[in-house]
Amino acid sequence: MSTEAEFLKYVHLLYHRGHLTLLSGNVSMRVGGEVLITPTSRPKPFLTPEELAWIDLEGRVLRGFLKPTSEWRMHVAIYKRRPDVGAVVHTHDVLPTVLADGIDPSVLSETEAYLGSGIAVVPYIQPGTAELAEAVASALERSNVAVLKRHGLVAVGRDLAEAVNRIEVVADLANATFYAAVLSAIKRG
Ligand SMILES: [Zn+2]
Repeated sequence: MSTEAEFLKYVHLLYHRGHLTLLSGNVSMRVGGEVLITPTSRPKPFLTPEELAWIDLEGRVLRGFLKPTSEWRMHVAIYKRRPDVGAVVHTHDVLPTVLADGIDPSVLSETEAYLGSGIAVVPYIQPGTAELAEAVASALERSNVAVLKRHGLVAVGRDLAEAVNRIEVVADLANATFYAAVLSAIKRG
């Protein structure tokens, strides 16, 4: 299977699991000194290998006919600061975003091992800006996942499997935090 086809398996999975919407969220993986990244303004479930963009760490398009995601600055900023990172996933998961620093990592015991860090929280900064890219890359120097307030989630990993799993773990933690709060309110009720 080609690198692009393998990459698209994860993009499609993220869409069908409800982490990405048609046009929001973006995914990349590092291959040597290059980055394979989702394009801007193309419906995620129908993306084809030809529609993906190859860029360098300065954001210059090397191959492909579409522009990379408007968040390309965030992806390359992370790769520059984290040589160990091979994949970056950015989603617009609703519940983790709403809960943000209210997510309680202690509600599910196995999650710490998967995340390998705490969950960083980045204040709201306009999407697509160099300022957001810097803030996220800086937060991810000490963490493998970050909640971007009023915006979404970013997870990194050595490969796409690890980064995608971290998105799922944070989504599970947000669900568990929410259910635990609702159940304790009912008990008190
Ligand atoms: Zn976004």
